[in-house]
Amino acid sequence: MKYISTRNQEKEYDFREVFIKGLADDGGLFVPKFIPKLSEKELIKLSNLSYKDLAKEIIYIFCEGTISKEKLSTIVEKSYSTFSKKNVVEIASIGENKLLELFYGPTYSFKDIAMQFIGQLYDYYLKDINKKINIVVATSGDTGSAAIDAIKGKEKMNIFVLHPLDRVSLVQRKLMTTVKDKNVFNIAINGNFDDCQNLVKSLFGDHKFSNSINMSAVNSINWARIVAQSVYYFFTYFKINKRINFSVPTGNFGDVYAGYISKKMGLPIGKLIVATNQNDILHRAISSGNYEAREVKETISPSMDIQAASNFERLIYDIEDQNSEKTKNIMISIINNNKYEINEQSLQRIRENFSSESMNEDETIEIIKKAFANHKIILDPHTAVGFGVIEKLKIKNDCVIIATAHPCKFPEVIHKAIGKNVKLPNDSKDIMKEKENFSVIENDIDKVKSYIAASLAS
Ligand SMILES: *Cc1c(COP(=O)(O)O)cnc(C)c1O
Repeated sequence: MKYISTRNQEKEYDFREVFIKGLADDGGLFVPKFIPKLSEKELIKLSNLSYKDLAKEIIYIFCEGTISKEKLSTIVEKSYSTFSKKNVVEIASIGENKLLELFYGPTYSFKDIAMQFIGQLYDYYLKDINKKINIVVATSGDTGSAAIDAIKGKEKMNIFVLHPLDRVSLVQRKLMTTVKDKNVFNIAINGNFDDCQNLVKSLFGDHKFSNSINMSAVNSINWARIVAQSVYYFFTYFKINKRINFSVPTGNFGDVYAGYISKKMGLPIGKLIVATNQNDILHRAISSGNYEAREVKETISPSMDIQAASNFERLIYDIEDQNSEKTKNIMISIINNNKYEINEQSLQRIRENFSSESMNEDETIEIIKKAFANHKIILDPHTAVGFGVIEKLKIKNDCVIIATAHPCKFPEVIHKAIGKNVKLPNDSKDIMKEKENFSVIENDIDKVKSYIAASLAS
């Protein structure tokens, strides 16, 4: 498969380059030149596979030519050996609807599904490289711990994680800052997630710096993550075996975009529901056509406290006739005016596939209460947003809510909502007592650069 940048479709890349680079040099995101549509026959062939075997088939479509099927199989097996469920994910019932639980990996959020795979992919693609790779990643809470778990202890790699100071949950932070491996560096930025994400983007934009330290990105802009995430849409559809809607708690638009890719590949998905918290830029964009960033608000679902949804550029590219020139101009105007008015035709194209709704803080707490009272299920606050919006949209059944995190990551919120103490699973109990290691740095690109340079020199 050939890839291009959303801002320049002239130049082609292969999967390996797309994976290692993360972001194109022109600032665009990598997308496939063509997305293959699977026939009904091909879908049927995939429909009885175990999660891991399905992952091998789906992922291979995207990386063929850069890796053998056998090697990919080994990588997939290794990636998912760290999960506590044989089939990686679980599908539970919640009333008339289903809950797709994606939190059985080592750091209890769906981010592990892509990140464990990415960690193994680096080992493979870097096996002949002698230079060290430096991962620099911004996190709103869950990406950081998932990336650290996937990359800790690797000889040829360091990882620098930028999280917004005091704006991630305590458990989220401890899962990152108690990891002792020498190649792990935690930075708390005095700012919000968008600040962290902008710092990382600026670091990549500074080619002299980023090339000098061999920087690589594992943020949700990395195409390999999207590919790994599309697998569970296929798996769920095959298990339920009828046309379904997915409600997806959304921040950076990575997860729900993976659903969109699956639909484009021929999976009979109805609507992809973009569920947001009070940081509702995507809900406003889809419902009114106005994509305009506002101040980021701190919420009880911190992993979605985002106003600059990076992956949305991939959707823009697609709905704007897959024209990179148009996309580039729109992105420039978003940067300059902080705003994008989606035209009627494009909006219609979006709404054929997506609907959206948002939940405020009180509504989210109410939903956690209700889910527990009516279904005896404890939802984490992100999943609660996904569950709450289907009621608001009056979708009665045939909906799969993506459960993006385990409630144990947000014990304070759960206690507030239902008065219960959710505990960490046994293998992570000790992190609450262990010593933490992180540096606090101002929201200043030069300070971050100096910190990284000094860490690499010592
Ligand atoms: C990252 C995250 C999200 C948002 O996913 P995106 O791919 O950024 O849209 C939702 N819930 C949880 C728990 C997350 O960690």
